[in-house]
Amino acid sequence: MVLGNPTNPTGRLHPVSVLEQLTRPGRVLVVDEAFADAIPGEPASLSARRDLPGVLVVRSLTKAWGLAGLRVGYVLGEPALLAALRQAQPPWPVNSLALTALESCSQPDAVAWVERQAATTASWRQALAAALDELPGVEVSADGLAPFLLVRVADATAVRRRLRDLGIAVRRGDTFPGLGDQWLRIAVVGPEQHARIVDAFARSTGPGAAHSVATSHAEYPGRIAPSRIGVTRVTGVTVSAAHGETATTKTTSVTTITATASHKSGNPAETSAGQPAGTRTASAEQAGAGAGLPAGTGTGPTEPAGTGPGAVTLIGAGPGGADLITVRGWRALHAADVVVADRLADPRLTGELRPGVVLIDAGKSPGAQQLSQDEINQVLIKHARAGRRVARLKGGDPFVFGRGGEEAAACAAAGIPCSVIPGLSSATAGPALAGIPLTHREVSQSFSVVSGHLPPGHPASRVNWAALAAGTDTLVLLMAVRNLPAIAAHLLSLGRPAATPAACIESAGTPAQRVRHLTLAGLARPAPGEPPVTNPAIIVIGPTTRALGASHS
Ligand code: SAH
Repeated sequence: MVLGNPTNPTGRLHPVSVLEQLTRPGRVLVVDEAFADAIPGEPASLSARRDLPGVLVVRSLTKAWGLAGLRVGYVLGEPALLAALRQAQPPWPVNSLALTALESCSQPDAVAWVERQAATTASWRQALAAALDELPGVEVSADGLAPFLLVRVADATAVRRRLRDLGIAVRRGDTFPGLGDQWLRIAVVGPEQHARIVDAFARSTGPGAAHSVATSHAEYPGRIAPSRIGVTRVTGVTVSAAHGETATTKTTSVTTITATASHKSGNPAETSAGQPAGTRTASAEQAGAGAGLPAGTGTGPTEPAGTGPGAVTLIGAGPGGADLITVRGWRALHAADVVVADRLADPRLTGELRPGVVLIDAGKSPGAQQLSQDEINQVLIKHARAGRRVARLKGGDPFVFGRGGEEAAACAAAGIPCSVIPGLSSATAGPALAGIPLTHREVSQSFSVVSGHLPPGHPASRVNWAALAAGTDTLVLLMAVRNLPAIAAHLLSLGRPAATPAACIESAGTPAQRVRHLTLAGLARPAPGEPPVTNPAIIVIGPTTRALGASHS
């Protein structure tokens, strides 16, 4: 007799009392506990029971980690029964990656992590189930406890296809005996993914779903890349490779542990009944608690090892607004193991990173605690040295007042490969978003982008304000909020007319974007009651600010 506990795909748990009644001399009861470690306290596990006749418990070591396509587990049972099974066991390849996973996932800190993660997964499950259940036309199967949800929809094949178009992979339910084309199984994932999943279900079910998906596809410019393997290096476990690989590991009641690894590949949604998701295309079919590592500076013991030679990519995020990043930048961001993000990069860009990716916030807000440039350089180098792909996400373009050059130079000095993916700089994109051309036929044939970080006359300033005042049609000032009155007054003193049109563009590209049209004199002496310019802001000085009409923005 074979049963899953929790059962796949309902996620329901059979109590121990029921299992006990199923055992009897002469019968072998196979209990598949592949998902048991995702349930806090494992209330119905038989793994420690040695008194029940004929019980064979099958366990997974890797499921909780969401190691795509890599499954390692073991069997617990009476020695005589295991010996008999071994006689009949076909040769089964176990590759070195699987053995490393077996070692790693059996370490005390890994086992402790899985235990802690079970509680987290339970809360994620509850939240996701409640949110999906509220959608009309979506019914979440009740009473489940596993790290996946069984949901019922009207036309599961069509819904699955629409979800896939939105970058969400779910597992079909009709390959499970007894379930028809109304069922889908989705993995429980972290709350940062819930809104996206619920939104995708809302668009994919009910009337008009096909149309709404077709028109909304562009909102998700990329798919979430498959999770990659994050295995901690471990020592101290003996693996003696005999006919059936045998190792000593975590559970004291273990009689024999047989490690098996499957190398199934292919479409995750097509895996056969009872199998966990294999390789995956998107977030919703990630096996249970495989959400991996906590965000942080990535110095913890469970930090993933890299999977190749490390490298740093400086990525321009664009000026604000998550969809103003380049396609190349988006892809590199989602392929990274570690993301070091800038204060100016739109937070939505880092809100949908793969589970397990380490996100480092390099700068909070001006004045708040930030990593120094030297510390940032060290973090980039450290992670790349450990073999990780490091994405350094910077606002605008990395090489426009972004200190990208310093980071590239630090990488070069450390022998770390570093490449740059340009971004839309706020210097040009900000005015464009505000409807302000920087050049305009017969009005402006030149523009200059200038840092206003230092006031005119400051000993460290390299800006030749006199040359700029006389020689460039349009002036674009970045980082100029604090020194704006001093800069404007200086330009007036250098002969720029007081009535020269000017514009302030605050938070360009974001929902908070605000554009104000003023004059150079107004910048030098703000009118009483004029609200102060707030960061981040671009100041444009020159006739083109009015070229398309002040109301255009
Ligand atoms: N590398 C960035 C510039 C960094 S310097 C780029 O290419 O855009 C930081 C300055 O950029 C800010 O002080 C502000 O002047 C400007 N800035 C960046 N993003 C902005 C935005 N969304 N709106 C207005 N100004 C912005």
